[in-house]
Amino acid sequence: MSDIKAPCPRLGCHLSIGKGLDVTASNAAKIGAETFQVFLRNPRGAGFRVWKDREIQKFKETLNEHGIYPVVAHIPYIVNPASPRDDLYELARRVVTEDLNRCDILEAPYLVLHPGSRGDGSTEEAIDRLISLVNNVLEGSEGKAMLLIETMAGMGKEICSTFDEMKLLWSGINRKDRLGLCFDSCHLFAAGYDVATSDGLSRLLDEIDNKIGIHYLKVVHINDCLRELGSHIDRHAPIGKGQIGVDGIANIMKNPLLQELPFILETPTIEQDLKTLREIRASIYNH
Ligand SMILES: [Zn+2]
Repeated sequence: MSDIKAPCPRLGCHLSIGKGLDVTASNAAKIGAETFQVFLRNPRGAGFRVWKDREIQKFKETLNEHGIYPVVAHIPYIVNPASPRDDLYELARRVVTEDLNRCDILEAPYLVLHPGSRGDGSTEEAIDRLISLVNNVLEGSEGKAMLLIETMAGMGKEICSTFDEMKLLWSGINRKDRLGLCFDSCHLFAAGYDVATSDGLSRLLDEIDNKIGIHYLKVVHINDCLRELGSHIDRHAPIGKGQIGVDGIANIMKNPLLQELPFILETPTIEQDLKTLREIRASIYNH
C-alpha cells in the first residue's frame, strides 16, 4: 500500500490581527486552520501598528510548529486603486506599497487587492489608473510578495468582474512575475460564472487560461453566495447556506486545477464552515 496522498486544498479562513500577531497565530492553530488571511492594518482606516520583533518571531514559530502556510494578506476593502480622485488614489498607492513591504516581514507570499471602482469615469480609464498604480508599486519594490488581483461580483461601478477587463489589466502590467489572481467563488458566481457545476467551472477555467493564463491562480476565497447566479450582488453566505451549496463547493474543491491552492473562508461563521469544508474534503480525498 502506498501512503502517497493526492494533493488536496489547504483549508483556512480570514482572521483578525487586532490582539497581536502572536494571538492570531495561536488562534489559527486552535481552530485547525492550515492557512489563513489577515488585514495588515485597521480594515476601516489607513493606520497600522508597527510590530515588535518578539511578536513577529512568536508568530513565525507558532506557524512553523503547526505547519500553517501560506499566510495571505488582504488590502482593506475601502482602498480604491482605480479611484479618479487624486487623494484616494495616492492613499491606495501608499497602502499597497506599505502592505507589500509588510508581507515580506511576515514571509507572507501573497497580498490580495480588489481592483476597485471606476467612480464617474470610464472603465478603460479606471483600468489604466490601476495599471499605473501596480506598475509604480512593483517597480519600486525589491521584495518578494506577489500582488493578487481578486475576481469581483461586478456590483455598482466595480471594475474587472469580466476576464476581458482582467485581460486588459494584465496586458499593461510589466512585472508579471509578481502578479497573480485570487479566485473568489461568491464573487464569480454573482458575476455570472456558474462555479457550482462542473461544466460551468470548466468553462470559467478555460476562459481564465485563454485570457490571462491559469498559472496566475494562487489563492481561492471559498464563500457560498447568498444571491442567485449573475445577480452582481456581493453577499457571502455560510458554506451550504447559499446558492452554490455543498455540492457546488465540492465541485470547486475537487477540480484538479484548484486542488493544490489554499482555500480561505470569508464567511461570518468561520469555525462551523471550516468543519463543513473538512467534511467535504474528506468525502472527496479520503483524508
Ligand atoms: Zn474574497
